[in-house]
Amino acid sequence: MFNKIISFATSKFSRQTLIKLSYTFGFMIRPVFWGNKVECPVCKRHFRKFLPYGYGTAKDNRLCPGCLSLERHRLLYLYLKEKTNFFTDNLTVLHFAPEQPFLKRFRKCKNLKYTTADLDSPIADIQLDVTKIDLPDNSYDVVICNHVLEHVTDANIAMKEIYRILKPDGWAIMLVPINPDIDTFEDPSVTDPKERERLFGQYDHVRQFGRDYPDYIAKAGFDEVIVDDLYYSIPEKDRERMKLARPGEEYIYGGRKK
Ligand SMILES: [Zn+2]
Repeated sequence: MFNKIISFATSKFSRQTLIKLSYTFGFMIRPVFWGNKVECPVCKRHFRKFLPYGYGTAKDNRLCPGCLSLERHRLLYLYLKEKTNFFTDNLTVLHFAPEQPFLKRFRKCKNLKYTTADLDSPIADIQLDVTKIDLPDNSYDVVICNHVLEHVTDANIAMKEIYRILKPDGWAIMLVPINPDIDTFEDPSVTDPKERERLFGQYDHVRQFGRDYPDYIAKAGFDEVIVDDLYYSIPEKDRERMKLARPGEEYIYGGRKK
């Protein structure tokens, strides 16, 4: 019964709403998920299992009851920790559409000068359009822009803008939903939400990125394309315990400016 209620809540409410409810919600549900079968590398808690999230048969065991991270957040967190200078060097960071599991954690990092940006979110530090970033060239060490580019009409321009504001040797993380079986497919004439959902996976997506995504990053001018396979170097039992990726999410993508 309780699982049904949770399942209902996580499919009905947006993650933003769940996040607002999460403080009360968390205290309520964490005891129910008490256990040690799964573990979240972001909030370092362990549980009997993760919460269900989304629709369909693959919705079970996804969302961390501790910090509301999903698979991709947990993998990215490990990547930042194990393969970058993110938590060690003094860096200026611009985070577009900041993901909730990261927001407070990154803000607390003493080594980061951390700024959040969004097109219209009132909780972001600054309002920015990723296709026309009102910031000087060479101004940030790190840009994080996840699950944004599939919504943007001209993703190539957005990537060029991200490249422009990066300092030399700066890097950007740009995760998007990818269908590894196809090449990127976009059709700007499709504006009907139902048709967009059918073709691109969600009512407000304007393209479906595919296996050629690294070329897409290179085409925007990045001097080095980041395609990181940390996922595959993690033992399978740990990948399973932390639930680190759904199909198509096994790689971390981004680009570096030389
Ligand atoms: Zn967590």
